[in-house]
Amino acid sequence: MDNTTIAAISTPLGSGGIAVIRISGEKAIDIADKVFKGKKKLKELKGYTAQFGHVYNKDILLDECVATVFTAPHSFTGENVAELSLHGGEYVVKKVLETLYKKGAVPAKAGEFSYRAFINGKIDLTEAESIMEIISAKNERALTVAERNKQGAITKKINTIKNDLLGLIAKISVWCDYPDDESMEIDESEFLSVCENIKNELTRLINSFNNGKLLKNGINTVIVGKPNVGKSTLMNMLSKEDLSIVTSIPGTTRDVVETTINLNGYTFNISDTAGIRETENEVEKIGVERALKRVKNADLLLMLFETGEILTQEDATLLLKYKEKTVAVINKTDLEKNGKNIIEKTEKTEEFFKKNNVPYVKISAKENIGEEELISVITKTLKLIDTDSSEVILGSFRQKTAAENALNLIENAIGAIKENTPADAYGVLLDEALAYLLELTGERVTNEVADRVFKDFCVGK
Ligand code: GDP
Repeated sequence: MDNTTIAAISTPLGSGGIAVIRISGEKAIDIADKVFKGKKKLKELKGYTAQFGHVYNKDILLDECVATVFTAPHSFTGENVAELSLHGGEYVVKKVLETLYKKGAVPAKAGEFSYRAFINGKIDLTEAESIMEIISAKNERALTVAERNKQGAITKKINTIKNDLLGLIAKISVWCDYPDDESMEIDESEFLSVCENIKNELTRLINSFNNGKLLKNGINTVIVGKPNVGKSTLMNMLSKEDLSIVTSIPGTTRDVVETTINLNGYTFNISDTAGIRETENEVEKIGVERALKRVKNADLLLMLFETGEILTQEDATLLLKYKEKTVAVINKTDLEKNGKNIIEKTEKTEEFFKKNNVPYVKISAKENIGEEELISVITKTLKLIDTDSSEVILGSFRQKTAAENALNLIENAIGAIKENTPADAYGVLLDEALAYLLELTGERVTNEVADRVFKDFCVGK
């Protein structure tokens, strides 16, 4: 274990009301005492207490300061920790840090505070990763999931799977030790049912990762539809701002207009594209090409139609090609009051959607009608996990890969059991699967893997 005492600024560098310097290590409080002067020495304070005072470099006053003291093991890192809250100026922080380094602290590396917390058993790897998720959360749902993972939701789930697996492994080792004892015979049907259950749980977890990504990065959404169907108006309705130019001349939205909005706890990165249609206009052609590329890469496609509009072959092809991620939207339903003719045509379009299982919703973007239903249909189409449920959502690619490796081995074990392979042979597969689960939580992990997790952290975290 590293016995140095580290120090770094833990708040963003720049001007602000307050900046916090964190010092951690065996000598953290002694070193803080060398720069801090208050009523009492900091080492006389109990953990979890704070004291007002001043920070000096020799006799030169650097700043006023509130020092907070945490004594090992009751701190974030599990070591002695002192936190100095100063005025948030870049220069003053630099001067105080320089003084601390002169008094024996060393600059903390990126993620080193969290790394020490991990090494000292204060947090596991999934909890460490969730700190990053909390910091980068852009919406309510991403934050809910990150906070739950910080409280150990992933580890709890993995531990349940792990215990089932350990039960099987224990039975195999007893069977190996007492091969002639009939009461120790392996019950293959029990093994199969436990492994199938583990397989389902792992598959669910692995699938949750993509959902987590949509929560974290936002749902890349493309709005397409012919000129004048109301794409810009819809985007404005959803964003509650006038972001696109709304006019009644077809083809006004020549280029891609992008905006990010938070709706119902989700972040949507929306591009309002030029309408997709055959055109001779060179500028519009470029717009259409860009739109098609975006459609391909999008997580969600909102295909907008006007009430009374009959679908073209072009529309139908695009719809069916991206059916899994498309919600068809019939706009301008307020115009339906103008005649039976419109309604009959719309019904034909609706029949097509129903026949082909294309999710659709009817709205009036202009009159702000249908937003709630639209969100509900989007949620169903993208199979978004309800973050209010207790469903666990994996937070990193590393976790997903470990779960996939474990799943792979479990599937092989299931194959082996079905083929009546001797238990010690598939026992090896179960052991290996267990190792991946231990890697996922960080209970058994190589330095290389741990280093990779913390390298993405910034200094002071
Ligand atoms: P875009 O070319 O698809 O972006 O269409 P716009 O959003 O620019 O809208 C074209 C025209 O349709 C504008 O005059 C809008 O006011 C009108 N419009 C948009 N949505 C509705 C709607 O729900 N009802 C009615 N009656 N008109 C709408």
